[in-house]
Amino acid sequence: MKIYMNGKLVPERAAKVSVFDHGLLYGDGVFEGIRSYNGRVFMLDEHIDRLYRSAKAIGLEIPMTKRGMARAVVKTCKANKTMDGYIRLVVTRGVGTLGLNPYLCKRPQIIIIAANIQLYPKKLYSEGLRIVTVGTVRNLPEAVNPGIKSLNYLNNILAKIEAINNGVMEAVMLNGQGSVAEATGDNIFVVKGNQLLTPPVHAGILEGITRNVVMDLAAREGYNVSETTMSRYDLYTADEVFLTGTAAEVIGVVDIDNRKIGDGTPGKVTRGLERHFRKFAKSTGTPIE
Ligand code: PMP
Repeated sequence: MKIYMNGKLVPERAAKVSVFDHGLLYGDGVFEGIRSYNGRVFMLDEHIDRLYRSAKAIGLEIPMTKRGMARAVVKTCKANKTMDGYIRLVVTRGVGTLGLNPYLCKRPQIIIIAANIQLYPKKLYSEGLRIVTVGTVRNLPEAVNPGIKSLNYLNNILAKIEAINNGVMEAVMLNGQGSVAEATGDNIFVVKGNQLLTPPVHAGILEGITRNVVMDLAAREGYNVSETTMSRYDLYTADEVFLTGTAAEVIGVVDIDNRKIGDGTPGKVTRGLERHFRKFAKSTGTPIE
């Protein structure tokens, strides 16, 4: 595999980062996870916009234009023939001293990894996920805003640990007010009749690109889509619950905190949106050739 590092494509074994990089020392940096479908990069501009917004929010100036970044992503996919893949775009603060001061880091480090896709097993989509709500509160927007896709994912990892220790693969975090925020790497939706509900960005979530696509697709399908503050009550009493994310796409949730959701199988609306989303994802994107 060839890795893009600061303007060059280098062999995987040569793709090394300094131990003084503040991405490693402090989780000081930002990233994106992007998919390619059928030789096209899905929602590339949206991901790049979010990357630059995250960087701006942490005062990290990416030494490259957005267009240059888009070209670098496509180039890396091409070099690795990543036609159906998962792309990781990372920008760290760069090499500094052992102290915190980010201004001593001379140059951000830009890394692009275009890997072959590891899809979740098909069975998970037909059977649905079991998840739990956890005690780990989502980062407070006043502290580290969850809208920043930063390299510090400890908040999410702590929630993931709670999920796994409870015998399931995914956790839902609540925010500081006890409202539903999001899963560790996915946004969450509730279906109630013809209504599709999802927490608003100000609930303290990452504004998922899949989330936004699904909201548009669902509205076009005639669902009444709204961003609403929700409690665990809304999850437990939902007709259907599903998660959205770049890696997961749209995946049904059938059990939350050992309570069955709906009839305990992924619902019709979820399966419909899952199909619609895939069809859409395969029909659009920035060509790799
Ligand atoms: N929330 C969190 C915390 C995430 O890490 C992700 C994955 N990037 C998402 C939601 C889903 O966002 P997207 O649809 O843009 O992948």
